[in-house]
Order: sequence, then C-alpha cells, then structure tokens
Amino acid sequence: MRRRDFLKTGAAATGFVAAPFLSRAAARSGDGPPALGGDHVTYVRADETAASALSEGYAGRHVVVPRLRALCRSPRAVGEVVHWARDTGRRFAVRSGGHCFEDFSQSPDLVIDLRDLNRVHVDPDGRVVAGAGAQVADILQALAGSGRVLPTGTCQSVALAGLVLGGGIGFLSRAHGLACDALTDVEIVDAEGHTLTADHASHADLFWACRGGGGGGFGIATSFSFRAVPIDGTIYFDLAWVLAPPDAARILTHWQAWTFAGDHRFGTMMVCLPHFTGGVFLRLQGLSTAGLDRTERHVARLVDGARLWSPARVEQMPFVDASDLLWTDDARGQMTSHRTRSLVTAGPLTLEAATDMLARLVQSGADPVSILIEPLGSAVSETAADATAFPHRGETQSTVQIAGPPGSTVAAGIYDALLPQTAGAYANYPDRDIAGWPSAYWGTNLPRLQAIKRRYDPDDVFRHRQSVPLA
Ligand SMILES: Cc1cc2nc3c(=O)[nH]c(=O)nc-3n(C[C@H](O)[C@H](O)[C@H](O)COP(=O)(O)OP(=O)(O)OC[C@H]3O[C@@H](n4cnc5c(N)ncnc54)[C@H](O)[C@@H]3O)c2cc1C
Repeated sequence: MRRRDFLKTGAAATGFVAAPFLSRAAARSGDGPPALGGDHVTYVRADETAASALSEGYAGRHVVVPRLRALCRSPRAVGEVVHWARDTGRRFAVRSGGHCFEDFSQSPDLVIDLRDLNRVHVDPDGRVVAGAGAQVADILQALAGSGRVLPTGTCQSVALAGLVLGGGIGFLSRAHGLACDALTDVEIVDAEGHTLTADHASHADLFWACRGGGGGGFGIATSFSFRAVPIDGTIYFDLAWVLAPPDAARILTHWQAWTFAGDHRFGTMMVCLPHFTGGVFLRLQGLSTAGLDRTERHVARLVDGARLWSPARVEQMPFVDASDLLWTDDARGQMTSHRTRSLVTAGPLTLEAATDMLARLVQSGADPVSILIEPLGSAVSETAADATAFPHRGETQSTVQIAGPPGSTVAAGIYDALLPQTAGAYANYPDRDIAGWPSAYWGTNLPRLQAIKRRYDPDDVFRHRQSVPLA
C-alpha cells in the first residue's frame, strides 16, 4: 500500500507537496487558523468542553489547556497549521501520545495534536505503516496473530512519535534492537510546512536524527514505516523477592550479570520498591523467545536458590497477552504521579553501589521512591553509536529511572550517588534538571544533530526546553 492511500489524503496531499501554500490565503479568514474541514483538522478552543480532557498527559498528570488545540488528521493540515503559526508568530507544542515526563508536548498557546493520525496498516510482507499518533497498543493489535512484532516500548498508551523519535526501549530491545532501529522511513512536516519522506536514501541526515534525536526538534512526524520482525512463541516470566538491602543488592547484581552474559532472547525489567517490613521489594518481569524449556532452565539459573516472595511464574502465551502483563499500574504508576529522574549507567551496578542504592531506597518509607532498571546491550549495541542519533549502545548499559515525590531527598540521594557510574541519559526519559542535558542525551552525536537542526530548522521553529539546540 502506498502511504498516500494509507493516510487518505489523496490528491490533496499530492497537491500540497508540490505547491504547499497555494490556497492558504483563501483558506484562512482573518488571522484565524487555516479552515480545511474536519477531514483535515478540528480546532478546540480553551473554553470548549472538550478542551480540558484533551489536555491531559498520561494518567491526568499534567493539564495545561492551550488557547487553541489543532487536532490534525492529515499531513496537509499539519503543514498549514505550522505555516500559520509561523506567520502569526505563535509558539506551539507538538503532541502525539502526551506521555512526555516534562510536559514538552504542552503549551498554553497552540498545540499541534497528532493523536487522530493513528491508523496502522500491515502489509503481508511485514511492512508496517503507522500514523504518528498510533499507540503501542494499536501496533500490538494490528500485528496480533501475524507471527510478527515490532520492538516497541512497554507502555501501551505511549504513541509512536515520541517513542521512536527518542529511540524506543522495550522487552524486545536486546533481541531486536530499539523501535527506531526497525524504522525504514518517516514522513515529516518541516519548518516550511513541506511534507518530506526521510529514509536511508532521501534526507538521510534527517532520517538519522529521527532515530534517537528526540521529538519536537526537527519537524512534525506524521507517519512511520517499519520492518516488523518474525516472532515464534513468547514466554512471560515474573519473579518477586522481599529481602534486606544487602541481599536484594546481590540479586540485582546477579541479575545484571545473568543478563549481560546471557541469552539476548531474554528481555527483562527490574522494579525496586521499599517494602513495609523494612526490606526491598524486587519485581522482575521478563519476556523470552527462547522456548519454554530453555526459559525455565535459564530463569532457574537466575533464581539460583534465592527465596522468592511468591512462586515464579513462567508461562507461554501470545505476545499480545504477555504485553498486557508487562505494563501494570502497580509500582510503575509512580512513574506518572511522581517526579522521575533518569540516567544511563555506564556498566552494571557494582555490588557496593547497588547496596548503597537499596539502603537509601528503604529510607523512603511513607513517601516511597521506586527504581526501575532496563538493560540495554545485545541487539541495541550491535548498531554503532553513531549509526543513529541514539548514542547509548554500550554492551552493559542500562537505563535507571528513579521516581519519588517532588522534593524527595531519598530520590535525590540515590540519583547523586549513581552519577559517577553514569554514561548519560535517555532523551525519552527527560529531566529538566540534568546538568549538560544535550551531551547527556546525545553524547558525541550532538554536533551532527545540531548541524542537521541548522539545516532543517534554522529558525528553531520546532523547539521546547530540551530539543536539540541550534548551537
Ligand atoms: C507511563 C510511561 C511509560 C513509558 N514506557 C516507555 C518504554 O517502555 N520505553 C520507552 O522507550 N519509553 C517509554 N516511555 C517514555 C516515552 O517513550 C516518551 O515519553 C515518549 O516521548 C512519549 O511519546 P508520546 O508521543 O506518547 O508523548 P508526547 O508527550 O506527545 O511527545 C513526546 C515528545 O515528542 C514530541 N512529539 C510528539 N509528537 C510528535 C510528532 N508527531 N513529531 C515530532 N515530535 C513529536 C513532543 O513535542 C515531545 O517533545 C514511557 C513514558 C511513560 C509516561
């Protein structure tokens, strides 16, 4: 299927690409936004009933109601609204799934909102074309039963746009790489309002930047094409421990060694929480594509005689069902209601660092802090650090998210103690307080990203507090 058919913009889009602003003056009345009709865009003003609900981020965490929200349904509408915003000197934010930790998709003025560009089409050969506003759940559903998957992120209501533009880490990352590694092309509206298709051959630099350079800095992505990967059987596993901090630290370091020396077909995530007994609650969830027997044996090696808090669960099930279990709103609900700080560790945590971290964690008691660790490496590190804009390709790196009540001294102490072991931070887990955030997010890829920014958006039309700076 051709992308043009998929997006249902037909001749309108073709005409738009050739002569993007031919009808702009006619389409606009006075200084108002472009009038294009409901197939292309719906405007919601701040005083309308729907405005507030549409302004919520994930789990209603932040609500900034913009004066105007443009719910765009075609690349043409996106281009026209961008051009209008430039003409009239309006600042705007770009929103797809609204999951940004730091509200970069919110604005009190204008929000260009892509949530309705959410169609997903799967070709028989495994090519997936998805609108920028499609959520991980939409992709899972579209691929269910097809024998193929995309290595997306874990949370099902995250939209593709933010996820892929920043990288996209999930349980299949060690087996198949990041979400952005499966990308074959992106359709994107640039600062002039033109619709471009960027891939390895055309606008290759922009394509490079769209794989890890972060959302909201180079243009507005309207759709993505991916190559889905075959998957043959998935096994979900789930382990939990309640242990004193030194014992929990031993499990944690053992798990990291098991991960980095082990089978790339095992994807895991560890959550650490203070337990009311004064110990540490560790929960490890995982997904394996290594077959049931092999998974049971390998998971047994991980447990290695340590007393579990509840019986281990190791169960074969369809990928889509396992995905439902992998994002539950228990401990990780804190990621949304709490302030989250994040970093990428340079290597596995030492036993000393893990013990210190967990000893601090149990001090958080009544105002619990949670720590979530996702290992990278394996297929993520098979792509060179400069092959895409996502730089964290080390074989033993992990992301660590520390979520706590705003102002939590425990969370701050854990973060500060980990800094010496840190290689940077993941742009999709943004943190407004990171010192030197451009280098933390993009490392040695930063100068190239800045050059691309200067080329495609020299006036910094697409910007938020932590988008790639011009210089
Ligand atoms: C509960 C939760 C779970 C998460 N789980 C994971 C996970 O498993 N793996 C992972 O890698 N990440 C995860 N994340 C982080 C997530 O990848 C980022 O928050 C991502 O940026 C969200 O994208 P979005 O489109 O939903 O959010 P938005 O808030 O809409 O956008 C995020 C950023 O992208 C920009 N943007 C949005 N749409 C576009 C567009 N169409 N074109 C250009 N720029 C755009 C915005 O301006 C903003 O800067 C999670 C976040 C949350 C809150």
